[in-house]
Amino acid sequence: MAKSVKAKNKKIDIIDELVTANRILANEGIVDSFGHVSVRHPERPDRYLLSRARAPERIEASDIIEFTLDGKPINLKGRSPYTERFIHGAIYERRPDVMAVVHNHSPSTIPFGVTGKKMKPLLHMCASIGHDVPLWDSHDKFGNTALLVNSMEMGHDLAKRLGKGRTALMRGHGAVVAGNSIRHAVFISVYLELNAKLTMQAMQIGKIKHLYPGEVDAVIARTGPYTLNRAWENWCRRAGRKMQVID
Ligand SMILES: [Zn+2]
Repeated sequence: MAKSVKAKNKKIDIIDELVTANRILANEGIVDSFGHVSVRHPERPDRYLLSRARAPERIEASDIIEFTLDGKPINLKGRSPYTERFIHGAIYERRPDVMAVVHNHSPSTIPFGVTGKKMKPLLHMCASIGHDVPLWDSHDKFGNTALLVNSMEMGHDLAKRLGKGRTALMRGHGAVVAGNSIRHAVFISVYLELNAKLTMQAMQIGKIKHLYPGEVDAVIARTGPYTLNRAWENWCRRAGRKMQVID
């Protein structure tokens, strides 16, 4: 069994929370057999926690590995890490405010990445994705690759495109989401997928009136534990996981 790690000042088992995040993302259709979610180590900001290479729906506490920000495993113990773990460390390195990262191949986001059609929030629940979602194309700098972010160099380039935002699309591949907690990153990931789906539906009907920038700011300002915990409780139940109570 993996040793549980308690977050500072919060009686929360961060490994249990990370396992729950994996199960929720799978259950809500945001990840399939691929995609991953990590959390910055609560006591070592220069490290992060991420599962071994396994489908998110199957992940247990014993699968969680600790990494340095450049992707070196601390306690590998014969387990295989994800090839694309560099996404996580590169974002944590560039963004001290980010505490959790999701990388997914969320299906409805893909058409936006391959057409360059701008993704902007059109539903109040989706404001957390940010004013607009930048697009990263691995081909611009790295040419013909298998599209996998398999080096820190690629991770840094992607993190740069993410900038100060919460989300970025990856052409022909998927998306990354950066949150200030595991619950926040999962929340944004779920609503990024919904925003993409609704945008495609709205495009079939007519011209889209997106949220005004001031509305996006207003929704983001009020998206805190009240909202995140309400969604988390429901998603935990659906995924068959016990919710940890955080004040
Ligand atoms: Zn990927």
